[in-house]
Order: sequence, then structure tokens, then C-alpha cells
Amino acid sequence: MKERLIGKNLKELQALVLSLGLPKFAGAQMARWLYVKKVRSISEMTDLSKVARAKLEECCEVGVTEPISVLTSADGTRKYLFPVDNGKEKSAIEAVMIPDGDRATLCVSSQSGCRMGCHFCMTGRQGFHGHLSAADIMSQFLAVEESDRLTNTVFMGMGEPLDNYDNVMRVIEILTSDWGFAWSPKRITVSTIGVLPNLKRYLEECRCHLAVSLHNPFPEERLSIMPVQKAWSVTEVVRLIRQYDFSGQRRVSFEYTMFEGFNDTPKHADALVHLLRHLECRVNLIRFHQIPDFPYKTSSPARIEAFRKRLSDAGITATLRASRGEDILAACGLLAGEHASKTEQ
Ligand code: SF4
Repeated sequence: MKERLIGKNLKELQALVLSLGLPKFAGAQMARWLYVKKVRSISEMTDLSKVARAKLEECCEVGVTEPISVLTSADGTRKYLFPVDNGKEKSAIEAVMIPDGDRATLCVSSQSGCRMGCHFCMTGRQGFHGHLSAADIMSQFLAVEESDRLTNTVFMGMGEPLDNYDNVMRVIEILTSDWGFAWSPKRITVSTIGVLPNLKRYLEECRCHLAVSLHNPFPEERLSIMPVQKAWSVTEVVRLIRQYDFSGQRRVSFEYTMFEGFNDTPKHADALVHLLRHLECRVNLIRFHQIPDFPYKTSSPARIEAFRKRLSDAGITATLRASRGEDILAACGLLAGEHASKTEQ
């Protein structure tokens, strides 16, 4: 199997060309072809010598994986399904492109399946099929038809990004480096349920935004739908976040899916206010999209508004996040990949 070039940073590309007896500057040329010109083959890298291209082609390929299917929603949201082969198992992952005026946000997957097992999430239900390599993650950015007009990204697709820390960080390096996509970190948000040790690393090492899936301020209730609470309590997660500064460009938000009667009462709103008090943050309320065999349904619009107002009145900015791509099962918690759909039939 040939080595994939996408997903490599500048240093790795330079090391690769040096190992083939080629000049070091060819590494920077390749980075430009891969991440700026976005070519699909080594033969298109025309400022590399013929000898260099021939040597590279013997052992390497660009490595963009084309989608197996693309679904377009009535609201313009597009869901891409990609095959993944990690050498041991074949599976499928999804990426969702969400257009919004001048913006085009790509919601990317970081793992095939997920081992966090949140009860309300279709990805969690399908189990874990492996970490995505940096090439698999990077390929999502390069393979979508909208690649050239993407403005933002959220690591909120399948998987827990901080459970695949090194590969996610490698991709963020490519997205934010001058030799890569040259994006500002402000255009990138990583979402986590609070994998505490890697969250600390992320807060130390990365300037991108952070979104934390909170869903319930009471530890026992949160544990009943999110097994991760046992290892890393939401209280500890918020305590850690408080040690960092979010008054500048980097923002922190908390995701809160609304389940009727479970987490949408005034008592829950007040506990959330208490948990987040004096923290520079916002809360994104999310309508729940029903999945089979889960005991709660989404809160009514009136309850969501009452909850939102109670947070706002207490000084916490809270907004109801627009649901996009519901008709193609592209909304939060519904990504499952072809693999899961097949096993459920
Ligand atoms: Fe994994 Fe996120 Fe789904 Fe939880 S909500 S199971 S962390 S993908």
C-alpha cells in the first residue's frame, strides 16, 4: 500500500523528500500542491523535477478519498459519506457541509464510531471502529465539492476529537499554517465531552475555539446518559476551563441538548447558571432529534424558550442552535455512517 501524502505536515514532507534523496525545498513545494492547489495526483506537481515525481510515485500517493455518496438537504446542507479502511476493518464516516450566507462550515469526523457511548447519539450506538488517521481527517476537507469555499470547520462529526488528539492536532496544524490552508484559529472549533487530560493539553497548545457537550449540570443525571461522567466529571471539566482566559479571541461554548422533563426545568437552568457563573462563555441549546430506544423526547419550543430566558436573565448568553439537514439525517447526534445503518437493518 502506498503512503498517503495528505495529512503530513511540512516537517514530515521534508523528511520524506530527504529520505528519497531529493532536495529539502521539494517538501514546501509539495505542501503547496497538496493544501493550496489541492491536486489529486503527484503528476500534477509540475514544479517538481520529473525524477522527483517518478521517485515519489513509486512509494506515495496524494491519498484523497472520494465520497461514496452525497445527500443534499432542502436547506442546502450536504452530507458526504466516505469509506475508511484502517487495514483491519472497513467502515464509513460522514462529513457535513453547512452553508450559511457567505459561510460554509464543514463538520468533520475524527473517529469511525465512538467509544464514549453517549446514549442519545447514533454514532455512540454503533461502537468504535477506530481512530481516523490525519490523512482520513484531512481528506474530508479536500474531497468535498465545496473545498475551495469552506470558511469554517467544527470537529463535531463522528467521534470524540480529543480521544484522537495527535491526529486532530496535526490536521489543525495543516489548517492554520502558512504552508497549509492558512486559516485563523478563530475559524476552527473542537467539540468535546470533556476528555480531561487531553482537554488540558488542548487548552495549553491550541488557540482554536472549544465547545463542551454538557447536557446536564447534575453529575448523577449526566452520568445516566453520558458514561464519560464517571471518569471525568463535568464539575472538573468546568474547573479546568476556568483556569484559562476566554476574554480574547478564543471562545468557549457549552452544548446543551434539550430533553423534556430530564434537563429542561428551572432547577436545571439555575444549576447551570451556578456551574458557569462568571465564566466568559455562551450556551448553545440544541433540539433533540429522536432516536430509537431512548427514553426522552425533545423539549417543546415553549420550554426551550423559558430555559433560554432563565439563563439570559442570569447573564448567560444562550441561543437555540438552528437545526440543519434534518431531512438527510445530518443533524447533531444523527450521524451513523453506512456501516451502522447496515448493522441495524
Ligand atoms: Fe461520541 Fe460525541 Fe456521540 Fe458522545 S455525542 S457518543 S462523544 S460522537
